[in-house]
Amino acid sequence: MASERTQVAIIGAGPAGLMLGHLLTQAGIDNVILERQSRDYVEQRIRAGVLEHWVAELLRDSGLGARMDREGLLHHGISLAFEEQRHRLDLTSLSGGKSVMVYGQHEVVKDLIARRLADGAPLVFEAADVALHEIGGPRPRVAWRGGALDCDVIAGCDGFHGISRPSIPAERRQGFDHVYPFAWLGILAESTPASHELIYASHERGFALLSMRSPTISRLYLQCSPDEDLSQWSDRRIWDELSTRLGLALPEGPILQKGVTAMRSYVTAPMRHGRLFLAGDAAHIVPPTGAKGMNLAMADVRVLAAALQAFLRDGSAALLDSYSATCLRRIWKAQRFSAWMTGLLHRYPGHDAFSRRLQLAELDYVTSSTAAATALAENYVGLPFDS
Ligand SMILES: Cc1cc2nc3c(=O)[nH]c(=O)nc-3n(C[C@H](O)[C@H](O)[C@H](O)COP(=O)(O)OP(=O)(O)OC[C@H]3O[C@@H](n4cnc5c(N)ncnc54)[C@H](O)[C@@H]3O)c2cc1C
Repeated sequence: MASERTQVAIIGAGPAGLMLGHLLTQAGIDNVILERQSRDYVEQRIRAGVLEHWVAELLRDSGLGARMDREGLLHHGISLAFEEQRHRLDLTSLSGGKSVMVYGQHEVVKDLIARRLADGAPLVFEAADVALHEIGGPRPRVAWRGGALDCDVIAGCDGFHGISRPSIPAERRQGFDHVYPFAWLGILAESTPASHELIYASHERGFALLSMRSPTISRLYLQCSPDEDLSQWSDRRIWDELSTRLGLALPEGPILQKGVTAMRSYVTAPMRHGRLFLAGDAAHIVPPTGAKGMNLAMADVRVLAAALQAFLRDGSAALLDSYSATCLRRIWKAQRFSAWMTGLLHRYPGHDAFSRRLQLAELDYVTSSTAAATALAENYVGLPFDS
């Protein structure tokens, strides 16, 4: 089959692949996105929902902020709940004026797809059997059922279960893996959020999170076991348990979605092999406690887009050569923060009274010391890029 040609072949139309495509198209660099699923599927996939301050700004600066600013919820604080009390942390005053935007990942994806189609940039849905070839040399190639592409660079943005990371020879990459001994039972419900800001609760019975996607849709989570049997969780039981752990009465409504999300940390290094560059979940995943997954994906492609411009427009490979190291510094800090938040708030199997007292002392410290609260806020709204 005859190949077509592009400068950058992007595998995956999640936040990472779509944002990379958008930034490259804006910079006048040809790119093609190949996505295994249908448009409908990727636009309906409910996942993350908290955008760091700089991500909201990046979306605005690149012409994608209008619907987010209309429909998203700008948040200036979060609360930590423990021992029957709620403590608000004012993220904005603690971080020198920053905030987070609550706007569903699938809404970001919808905006990016709509913009790409309006720009006339190529995006192939339902691309089956995508395979990467010659990634170690200067002319990599991508083939799928029904097409093939010659390119200068491949961006592997195909998530944790994609084909890009395993395309790198096993002896050329190292994986750092940590599986947590619990999971999250998450619901999406048609109900007014009981609080206008997120509440993270550390309770004797386990962690709970009150979050939202809009003024009428709540997103709520309960710590559960990794092999939790959802059939044991009636709607009644879920609402009661949420209310107990969060310590407040919840407006109830129809549960639209219910699922169990595993908690895992993973980092692969390096994030490059020859002309293949990994970005987003293809290279790393974090437990959702720190709300970092989608934000890290955006951070990778921000770095990658600048590096590809320098390489493909100006012939300078320096930024591409430092891509992996640059991203990994931020990724490990996000892993640190996510693991710390997870440890701060969850109940661990075998947690004894001493461990619980330490956890409560740490929660007390974070909510009473400006120095400790500032560190949480700085990480939560998104670390600066030069650190
Ligand atoms: C159930 C769930 C809940 C989550 N909740 C949160 C949360 O509350 N907060 C948070 O911060 N993060 C959360 N995350 C993590 C966050 O959603 C991810 O970090 C984010 O989606 C990463 O974006 P990405 O573009 O790198 O990967 P993805 O969004 O996974 O996108 C990868 C894309 O590649 C496509 N693809 C895969 N294989 C192929 C192939 N062979 N060929 C072509 N295309 C392929 C996939 O279909 C997908 O569209 C959650 C993740 C999951 C799975």
